[in-house]
Order: sequence, then structure tokens, then C-alpha cells
Amino acid sequence: MNTTFKVLLGMVFGILVGLVLNLTGLNADGTWANSYLTDGAFKVVGSMFVNALKMLVVPLVFFSLVCGVCGIGDIKLLGRIGSKSFLLYLVTTAIAIAAALTIATGFGIGEGMNAESSANFSGKASPPLSTVLINIIPSNPISAMAQGDMLPVIFFSIMFGVSILMVGKKATVVSDFIEALNEIMMKMVNIIMAVAPYAVFCLIARAIADLGMDLLAQLLGYVLVLIGVLLFHLFVTLQLILKVLSGLNPVTFMKKMRNTQVFAFSTSSSNATIPVTLRTVTQRMGVKNSVASFTVPFGATINMDGTAIMQGVATVFIANIYNVELGMMGYLTVIFMSVLASIGTAGVPGVGLIMLSMVFSQVGLPIEGIGLILGVDRLLDMVRTAVNVSGDAMVSTVVAKSEGQLDERIYNDPDAGNLSDLHLEQNQA
Ligand code: ASP
Repeated sequence: MNTTFKVLLGMVFGILVGLVLNLTGLNADGTWANSYLTDGAFKVVGSMFVNALKMLVVPLVFFSLVCGVCGIGDIKLLGRIGSKSFLLYLVTTAIAIAAALTIATGFGIGEGMNAESSANFSGKASPPLSTVLINIIPSNPISAMAQGDMLPVIFFSIMFGVSILMVGKKATVVSDFIEALNEIMMKMVNIIMAVAPYAVFCLIARAIADLGMDLLAQLLGYVLVLIGVLLFHLFVTLQLILKVLSGLNPVTFMKKMRNTQVFAFSTSSSNATIPVTLRTVTQRMGVKNSVASFTVPFGATINMDGTAIMQGVATVFIANIYNVELGMMGYLTVIFMSVLASIGTAGVPGVGLIMLSMVFSQVGLPIEGIGLILGVDRLLDMVRTAVNVSGDAMVSTVVAKSEGQLDERIYNDPDAGNLSDLHLEQNQA
């Protein structure tokens, strides 16, 4: 049985066990299953795995990006890749939220519900644009790396790579060294992937066991419309863009993305999924490292289609519940704010709610309204993160294709980079 299949099995079993624990009440506080399984073994194994992924993110991004820049060898091309991916990330996010607003308004979700049951939620402020811009340049690269701040790390890595290129021959010893380090990091990704099926099982079983099923039923309209729009974006919008802009086969893309989506789903973090996305995009899709090393971490930070969709659906839902008329201006503000907010916030669990409070305060919706949807956000966070990473991978593939940096033989080979050949054996050279 190959690892790809085992990861999917881990997900299915995780959902089943989680449902059983939840529905039978076995997971209630203080019970045996709760202390030893959900908050015991599942939590430990799952968190160890997420930590292991996060452990790789900063060094992997640094080494692969420096390698990527050295590999491109052309600063103009780097500029083109940067501007193309930035533009595509913005456009896809804007399309995502526009679709969300349209569909949610069409369904009239939340109409006729009253706002009495509102829980408390006090919003956290998202950083203003000026701060985001200033912080792209790290005053201390080591501290940016220690904090895992992606944009400044990306900035420093590109500067470092460009400088290696400018120094030329004398610096080849450094670029060779970093290339070896990059390969070592990729090997570490493979090692961690080997235990993924069990970790995925634990993460998903725990998340589902903790779900508030009664809340889910109460908020059914919101949950269904949101998941519907997320799936629409994933299966229709992203695939159309892929087909139109690159001519590549969307079915192949979706098949190869499945595993990465499971990782995003179980970790709820685009950032923690970076090592997996990077591996999939380079080894399964055939995108050259020179493109992927930049577009993937960049996308994980600034591109959040799924999260933007949640902003749209939640805005319509809460506006209807509180009987607030948003009007055309309101909707445009939501689109604009969501796109901006997704640039300024990192892809970590639950960040969508922070963005939402920013949007709400901008259009004058009560922030405490977020309390209403808080209880079901854990599950929705999982689904939208899977959509987020799919957008990152799609844009990476399209940009690579347009710049002649995509190996179509790899893209069209169903087994390329499959998890079944993890190459855990030692190289004998
Ligand atoms: N968890 C999401 C991500 O990492 C962000 C969010 O929607 O909360 O991409």
C-alpha cells in the first residue's frame, strides 16, 4: 500500500473515529476517551507532527528560495515571476470573495434569524497596510526567522540569492553549499511524510470529536452555503483559470493535489503545509524550484481564497441576522478589505476570524456577531485551508508554465513524485 493511499485512509478513519467519539458522548470532559485519546494520544501525535512540519518551514523556504534565485540567474525573470504571481493571487482572491457575496446573497442566508443568541467575541486588530509594508523588510533577519514571519524571510532570502549572483564566481561555494542543504531539507520532508498517515488520523479524529454537532445543525444554512462556495471555487473557478491560462489538464492537477489538501485540512495551516505544497508542486507537478520556492511560501502568506470566501459568506450571514443593509458600497468595501487583509495576515489556524473582525469594523457590522459562527469555525477552517493551498499550487503552476519553467512530462506522469517512492533509503555514494 502506498503512502498516498494510507494518508487518505488516515483521513477517512479519523473522520469515522471522531464521529463515533462525538456522537456517543464518549468525548465529554473528564471521560476516559477524552483524557487518554482526544486530549491524550491524538493530541500528542498530532501536535508532534504539526511541529515537525513547522520545524521545516523556515530553513526550507530560505534554502530553496536562495537556490531558486541562483537557479534563475536572471533578475528580470525573478521580477516577472513576482509580479505575475502577485497579480494572480490578488485576482483569484477577489473572484473568490465576489462569488461568495453573490451566492450567499442569492440564498439569503441568515434572513429571519434573530440576533438574540449572540455570544461574546471581541475582535483582534489586523495590522494596518503601512505596518505590513514596513515589516516586509526585516530589521533583524534572525528574529524574523525565529518568529516564522514569512514575508520578511522571503525578502531576506531573495536579497541573499541576488547578492550571490552578483558576487559571481567567488560565491559559487556558497550556492553549492546551500543547494546541498536544500536537498537535505527535502529529504527531511520525506522522512516526516512517512509518518503522515497516522498523524493525519490523529489530527482529524481529534478535530471531529471536538466539533459541536448541535451548533452545526443550528448553523446549517451558513455551513452548507460556505462549503458549497468553497467547493465551487476549488472545482470550477480554479480549474477554469488553470485550463484557460495554461492549457494544462485540471483533472491531473486535482489528483496530484489530493494529498496536500488532506495535510492542509488536518493542520488548518497553509504555513505548516508549505513543505508539503512545495514538494507536490515541484516533484508532482513539475514546477521548477526557481518558481515554486518563491510562489509557494508567498502564496501561503498572501493568498487565501478560501478565507476570503468565508469573509463574504459570513458578512452576508451576519448582516442579514442583524438586519443591516450593506448596499453596493458595503459589498465593494468587503471585497477590498478582504483582499488587503489576506495579504497582511499569515496562513495559520483561525486567522480568518481576525480578518473578519477587520472587515466587520470597516463596514459597520457588530463584531460580536462573529461569536455566532465561532463554534463551527474549526471545521470550516480546515476546509478553507485546503482551498487556500490549492490556489497557491494553481498559481505556481500557471506562472511556471507561462515562463517555460514547467516540466510537462512530470506534470503528465501520474506517478511522478508519488509518496510511494519516498526514497528513505540511504544514498550510497
Ligand atoms: N487557516 C487558514 C490558513 O492557514 C487561514 C484561515 O482561514 O483562518 O490558510
